[in-house]
Amino acid sequence: MDTEGLRPATWAITAGRPDGHGAPLNTPMTPASTYLHGGQRLYARNEGAEAWTAFEELMGGLEGGQAVCFASGMAAVAAVAGQLRDGAHVVLGDDCYQGTTQLFEAGTHVHGWRLERLPVDDPAWLERGDADLLWVESPSNPLLEVADVAGICGAPRREGALVVVDNTFATPLLQRPLALGADIVVHSATKLIGGHSDLLLGVAVAGEDEQVERLRTARVLAGATPGTLECFLALRGARTLPLRLREGQDSAAELARRLADHPAVGRVRYPGFGVVVSFELADAATADRACEATRVVRHATSLGGVETTVERRNAMAGQEHVPAGLLRMSVGCEHVEDLWDDLETSLDGS
Ligand SMILES: *Cc1c(COP(=O)(O)O)cnc(C)c1O
Repeated sequence: MDTEGLRPATWAITAGRPDGHGAPLNTPMTPASTYLHGGQRLYARNEGAEAWTAFEELMGGLEGGQAVCFASGMAAVAAVAGQLRDGAHVVLGDDCYQGTTQLFEAGTHVHGWRLERLPVDDPAWLERGDADLLWVESPSNPLLEVADVAGICGAPRREGALVVVDNTFATPLLQRPLALGADIVVHSATKLIGGHSDLLLGVAVAGEDEQVERLRTARVLAGATPGTLECFLALRGARTLPLRLREGQDSAAELARRLADHPAVGRVRYPGFGVVVSFELADAATADRACEATRVVRHATSLGGVETTVERRNAMAGQEHVPAGLLRMSVGCEHVEDLWDDLETSLDGS
């Protein structure tokens, strides 16, 4: 992808637009499963729609590689995991997206994968270069520990050992793993990239042509193809990613500071960047009451939308390692004082 030297904020707005006199300013949606013979596209599961290509151009430019879009974040995760041989050694963070954890755990039964879990900030990652796959999710979810991505990617590795970074929380505006030496970056574009909680979409981005071809083949064979509407919406959402991220991050940092001073709040976790803040209340019941009492902040799962959401993560399956009273909050674009008023009122009442 050639971003023509443009800065990310400009690329997010200019990438993937049709060219030429009379062309529409925005890439149109094409609700077609098949195309007339003789052109570039034959069948939508294989070659996709125009909106795919536009979205992939935008994401590839931001991450510095070639993007392959998928029907969901998990479809992208599965396309990468599907490359592993039977008996493969996989190193995975001990605090990461539960779907990813479940997928690799299932692989231990079905494919005999050896799964090793490490805290994402453990220096032992740097000595796992003989593993087949090092799967790094940073910041971790929901404890927000940060990995030394550059160190892990730069450490000596056996040939064929893959380093994959799930960049959903950081986005390419805050962390560009391919430039740090990662082989593949995956995203749930459902979150910050789409940004409006109205679609499911995933992306994998790789630097090497052979890897890109493997990802495309996996997509075709699994039928993990996104719809034209999802790509159109994600493209529209991604245009404002730099603005939304800046606003959400400023508010997240401010709310983290104020939460740390609130008498009802225990440990506050904020890595210093991004829109996600985790904070602990006394116990599960107190945290549940606080979630129910909020008005502007919505009690919902997922993250990365323009709206602020909060959730008690330990209540979810596979999140038993998370403190019972921990709330994960994804900060959106509402006015920060309205968010604080709402949080303060709900904390005082719970
Ligand atoms: C949500 C999420 C996923 C899965 O993405 P879907 O689009 O829901 O399939 C993967 N990784 C992280 C970090 C996520 O937050």
